[in-house]
Amino acid sequence: MHPIVDQQKAWFQEGHTSNYEFRKDQLERMRKMLDTFEKPILDALKFDLNKSEYEAYASEIAFLKSEIRHHLKDLKKWMQPHKVKAPLTHTGSKNYIYKEPYGTVLVIAPWNYPVQLALAPVIGAIAAGNTVIIKPSELTPTVSWVIKKMVEQYFSPEYIAVIEGDKEVTKQLTDSPLDYIFFTGSVPVGKIIMEQASKRLIPVTLELGGKSPSIVHKDANLELAAKRIVWGKFTNAGQTCIAPDYLFVHHEVKEELLRKIDEYITKFYGEEPLENPDYVKVVNDQHFQRISDYLKSGTILTGGQVDEERRKIEPTILDCVAWEAPVMQDEIFGPILPVLSYESLDEVIHQVNNRPKPLALYYFGEKEADQERIIESIGFGGGCINDTLYHIINPHLPFGGVGESGIGQYHGKSSFDTFTHHKSITKQTTKFDQNFRYPGSELGFKII
Ligand code: NAD
Repeated sequence: MHPIVDQQKAWFQEGHTSNYEFRKDQLERMRKMLDTFEKPILDALKFDLNKSEYEAYASEIAFLKSEIRHHLKDLKKWMQPHKVKAPLTHTGSKNYIYKEPYGTVLVIAPWNYPVQLALAPVIGAIAAGNTVIIKPSELTPTVSWVIKKMVEQYFSPEYIAVIEGDKEVTKQLTDSPLDYIFFTGSVPVGKIIMEQASKRLIPVTLELGGKSPSIVHKDANLELAAKRIVWGKFTNAGQTCIAPDYLFVHHEVKEELLRKIDEYITKFYGEEPLENPDYVKVVNDQHFQRISDYLKSGTILTGGQVDEERRKIEPTILDCVAWEAPVMQDEIFGPILPVLSYESLDEVIHQVNNRPKPLALYYFGEKEADQERIIESIGFGGGCINDTLYHIINPHLPFGGVGESGIGQYHGKSSFDTFTHHKSITKQTTKFDQNFRYPGSELGFKII
């Protein structure tokens, strides 16, 4: 059991987090923290992942600020008990849903967007009135250190604490009497976390990964499809949970689409992407080796060069890939885009539904009936029609997986709801009673 859990639970019981003013002040404090630490955050992201200032600011800091803004705007309304209707049997009563914080929440973060994914859940947890323990990823140690320093400077540990470390530390935390666990990471570790949580029946949100397809139909705007797929796939060197994992393209437009994809790779990253100072590196040697091995899974059409010393892999398009190839077995999480082609949407629906439900799905095509068919006949977490990644930055859209890609969702109001127990209350009248529910009573009202 970890001592920080006891400390936070005791502090929570004192009721500090229960009122609106407190929560609002803490969200504003977090915004100030991000302003003060902007430079150390950007420097740490450059050091650990070679993220450019622009990409780091947009995908990590700006994202968090937008979430804070969205929470501050509506928090007061979300916190109010919500009055609901009642059936005739409840005549005379008033019925409400009260919003109760769970208590002490553990947020376990991955390394790919190490600031955003550690702090975005914290915004929801603060808004809902919880105390929070953050466990950043040990694979981005400089970022983890900066997160610890800034949180220590702005919050007391009884309220928000950062515990650094690897799986041993995580295990010590998950063996403690937490009130909620919010985990972002891989499917295998998600299963371990859920198993550990089940020993104490701790509720969990699991934000996991998977193989998210990008489907390009024959009536798609190929220029925009190519541009948006290249952006979605190679941002962060493919190390994005909702990156298009593979390309599934109608055979009639495959050649033209691949030519355009090749052009956009050059346009965005230059003739020699490995020399582009802003091109993100792979997080560690183990992942570099794992991703590089995928280059053998097909024919390289574009890219394929690697730089082992700097852990960089060129944006790569891999053709002639079989469903059974290694690159099609697990989430790639790197800058390699395998290409498969199809003849009909029936085939697309069959192939995608034959695999675990992906975290995201992207469909490019103009016909609305086909768009609706894809949305309605394939199970997946969320996604876009004629775009990639964009659904994740709309705070009005809940974000999360389904099946093997995750349990639960967050962002915007759904973050507040995730960290809130919805407590149902019937306030009964004492002016009269309804006798029909009592054994042996005659039907009807009785004035007391
Ligand atoms: P990971 O599962 O290896 O690690 C995530 C966290 O779990 C880290 O903090 C790590 O220290 C901890 N951990 C690792 N092994 C553990 C164990 N045995 N017991 C307890 N804790 C353990 O994931 P990662 O490599 O950091 O991140 C990549 C994965 O995360 C990809 O699969 C990606 O799709 C997924 N991801 C999902 C989302 C999402 O929002 N759904 C976002 C980003 C990443």
